Amino acid sequence: MAVVCPECDSPILIDPDEVEEGETLQCDECGMELEVVSTDPLEIAPVDIVGYDDEDDTLAIEEDEE
Ligand SMILES: [Zn+2]
Repeated sequence: MAVVCPECDSPILIDPDEVEEGETLQCDECGMELEVVSTDPLEIAPVDIVGYDDEDDTLAIEEDEE
C-alpha cells in the first residue's frame, strides 16, 4: 500500500500490517518525519503538525479579539 508524502508528493510504500498508529516514518525523498495517525484506512501526517503541542499559540490565532 502506498501513501503520498504530504511534503513532496512522493509515494511511500507502507505495509499496514507492519506499522502501528503513532509510529513515525521518514520520507526517503525529503526526509520529512511522518506519523501514522491511522492504519485503517492508512493515513499519515507530518510529525511537526501532529506533535504541535503549544496550544496557547493555536488559541491565540483562533480567537478573535473584540
Ligand atoms: Zn517527502
